[in-house]
Amino acid sequence: QATISRCAGCGVALQTSEPNRPGYLPESAAAREPVICQRCFRIKNYNDASSVAIDQDDFLRLLGGIAATNSLVVHIVDLFDFEGSLISGLQRFVGNNPVLLVVNKIDLLPRVTNWNRLRNWVQKLARSSGLKVADVVLCSAKRNIGFDRVVSTIGDMRGDRDVYVVGATNVGKSTLVNRLISDYSDLGRELTVSRYPGTTLDAVHIPLDDGRSIIDTPGIVYKSRMSEIIPRDSLQAVLPDKPLKPITYQLNAEQTLFFGGLARFDFVEGERQSFTVYSSGSLKIHRTKLERADELYANHKGELLSPPSKDYLDEMPSWTRHRLRIQPGENLDVFVSGLGWIQANGKTGAVLDIHAPKGVKVLLRDAML
Ligand code: GDP
Repeated sequence: QATISRCAGCGVALQTSEPNRPGYLPESAAAREPVICQRCFRIKNYNDASSVAIDQDDFLRLLGGIAATNSLVVHIVDLFDFEGSLISGLQRFVGNNPVLLVVNKIDLLPRVTNWNRLRNWVQKLARSSGLKVADVVLCSAKRNIGFDRVVSTIGDMRGDRDVYVVGATNVGKSTLVNRLISDYSDLGRELTVSRYPGTTLDAVHIPLDDGRSIIDTPGIVYKSRMSEIIPRDSLQAVLPDKPLKPITYQLNAEQTLFFGGLARFDFVEGERQSFTVYSSGSLKIHRTKLERADELYANHKGELLSPPSKDYLDEMPSWTRHRLRIQPGENLDVFVSGLGWIQANGKTGAVLDIHAPKGVKVLLRDAML
């Protein structure tokens, strides 16, 4: 086994211990010839460019070469976790190559959403985080909404260039890449993964009929997303699979909302006002008085306040408290990466404390809706 070190498809170093990391090869497949990693195996046999995750540093190293190429960079983000899935620093690596921002999972938003306004909101946020995007396309890979637009926009923009597809984990990248493969290449099930020499080994090059390639890069793992760091039993509850049903709470100061046992929202100071919660319907919200919140948590975490359940509490990172101030007249969301957001509707300002697992991105932003 020691002689098998690299995948014959993409060249990545093989390993048999971590299925979600690059180069994974199930023990049982080590006898297969040629020896290829599970990802290449799936691409070759099922046309499935499955996601493999790497961390931000590995990823930026991988991207290091893009600036010197002539390519189209397709960055796919998850609308539900927009700031959590946006690759900050992408601009430095793409050089002069155009970036197409594909915003996925719009099926989660209410049907009455003003899509033009949403596009402007996306453009503004991307710009303020330093990313220059040539175009923005909204879609839902799962419900097949806007996906033809995505594919045709890529077709128009790429000209005769390669297409790099980049994104964080769980944004829907596999779905997009598979669709591109089926639209731009009739290799279909005969598709073989091209050998890619050199040291940039973790990206998969998929040859297209016109001689160019789609370069599918691994999904980046951001530890600042709730979905990456909470216990395994809690993931189902935070990832919405149905359109969000916003719930509005009329709160007085010194009231608290618990999001299962995953996060806590304290309305510390301000006039009575309403807050609208956009989070997965599977996540139970429990309302209480601020003065009772610590005790309630101490006595009921893992039970009334779950997930995580009792068995997984020790895998739960401790909370960090974030103090946020909304000034009178501001129309803002409290965004908690991976959990969703809470729109503050009051016009008179508020002081809020958000308790979220250590490391999770918590911020105020212009209201999305
Ligand atoms: P990848 O990890 O970026 O390759 O993403 P996948 O294509 O594997 O999708 C990740 C998760 O997001 C899966 O649970 C999908 O079902 C879900 N997903 C993908 N696209 C959509 C979408 O358009 N809407 C919704 N609601 N979920 C989606």
